[in-house]
Amino acid sequence: MEIPYEIIRKKRDGEVLNKNDIYSFISGAVEENISDAQISAFCMSVFFNDMNLEEKTYLTNAMIDSGEVISWNHLSGPVADKHSTGGIGDKVSLILAPIVASCGLFVPMIAGRGLGHTGGTIDKLESIPGYNTSLEETEFKNIVGDVGCAIIGQTNSLAPADKIFYAIRDVTATIESVPLITASILSKKIAAGISGLVMDIKTGNGAFATKKLFATEIAESIVTVSKKLGLKTSALITDMNQPLGSAIGNSVEVIEAVDFLIGNERDKRLNELVLELAGDMLFNNGISDSIESGKTLAQKKLSDGYSAECFNRMVNELGGPSNFIKTYSNDLSVAGFKKDIKADKAGYIYDVDTLSVGRALTLVGGGRKKRGDKIDHSLGFIVNASVGDWVEKGQSFLTAYLKTEDQFSSINNYIKESYTISLKEPKPLPVIIEKIK
Ligand code: URA
Repeated sequence: MEIPYEIIRKKRDGEVLNKNDIYSFISGAVEENISDAQISAFCMSVFFNDMNLEEKTYLTNAMIDSGEVISWNHLSGPVADKHSTGGIGDKVSLILAPIVASCGLFVPMIAGRGLGHTGGTIDKLESIPGYNTSLEETEFKNIVGDVGCAIIGQTNSLAPADKIFYAIRDVTATIESVPLITASILSKKIAAGISGLVMDIKTGNGAFATKKLFATEIAESIVTVSKKLGLKTSALITDMNQPLGSAIGNSVEVIEAVDFLIGNERDKRLNELVLELAGDMLFNNGISDSIESGKTLAQKKLSDGYSAECFNRMVNELGGPSNFIKTYSNDLSVAGFKKDIKADKAGYIYDVDTLSVGRALTLVGGGRKKRGDKIDHSLGFIVNASVGDWVEKGQSFLTAYLKTEDQFSSINNYIKESYTISLKEPKPLPVIIEKIK
């Protein structure tokens, strides 16, 4: 084993690490021969001195090799996934996985829980009574094979090195490092055995990459390292300067996702994003011969009800209600104390401080302040007016579903202050900003 001190010193001094340095540091961390303090110093050195393509590839590979890799050899079609860097109201995975699965892709989606202002896909799914997010590998494989998709929580056997590094990065201000983000995301995805990936990298005031330049750096790094590792990856840079879709919260986002799938209501921006991601996934993985024809196929499966049925089967196979797309409004619990947040003056919704809207939900208990916190899935917001919409004085621009008057008092002004209403019309905010291949 290389001496950890020497590896940290090399990176601290801006030198390039070789394969041996990186592999030995990662295995030392997993075997607990390297202390948390040393991992923290390593991460900070990478944060300041970056890594070249080879180093990032070694780091990703070393993290993959720290655990198991799932094999999908028993399946007859391509296996792919989507990953989002997270945002407010981002329920895309719940909708996209069954859409592309109903088109012939296999989607073993391993998702996370929310922390801070963004919600997690697993928290959303856990608002469905009975839905089991922690499965044994064999069961996971069977359900993906039968249904086409399954969304479950992280397992301990895939990329355990990332788990160790992530927990330390989280408390040492080293999350925002492009090489560390690249290795963290790709190691988990490649260990899940996929052959194609679409990244949704969010940028804006509700995203962790607030600046587009940072989002682009992450996208380019993930796409180039993926290429080196034989994973077909494309990335969309998408807007997070306002919540995505109309619902924010766990149960209410599942309701929006089902409403979308069964055709009750489809928010325009959410629809555009879902179809673009579906088109990319279907084309990149050989199901369609162009992105456009992939989008058409996705739209057709959606309209014909196959995507909703696929979601229904996934929920049922994972322990949820047997006919969820029919019974969802009774199955899901939404808090009954309904209060509108109203405009103090007439004007256009000019700007939304999206992060604060997410924080408001966390503040009342609908999100997690720290790891391990219990959350109330029934709390949520419905957005009634988006950026560019005109509202009259006294008109509701957001409805809160809460449990008490105190909860409402604690967020009413906070949310009001997050919305800027102006007589000036804002520039439109396209949901898809750029595509990186
Ligand atoms: N998501 C991850 O899984 N890892 C990171 O480093 C950042 C976001």
